[in-house]
Amino acid sequence: MTDNRATVTCPACGLEESFSKLAHARLFIEKHRDETGHDPVWELGRFPSGVEQMGDEAGVCGIPESFE
Ligand SMILES: [Zn+2]
Repeated sequence: MTDNRATVTCPACGLEESFSKLAHARLFIEKHRDETGHDPVWELGRFPSGVEQMGDEAGVCGIPESFE
C-alpha cells in the first residue's frame, strides 16, 4: 500500500522520489541541493484527495444516526 504525500523532482538531473512524510521530502531536497547545487521542487500529488477522504470518513463516524 502506497501513501505518497510528496513527490520530489529535480529538473536539473531528472531525479524523482516519493515520500510519505513531508519532513523527509524536505530533508531530501536540502541534501540534494547541498550535494549537487540543483534546485529540486516537490509536488503534493495525493494530499488533497487524502484529506477529502479522511473528512468524509470523519463525518460518517462523527454524526449519530439519531441526529437527523
Ligand atoms: Zn538534481
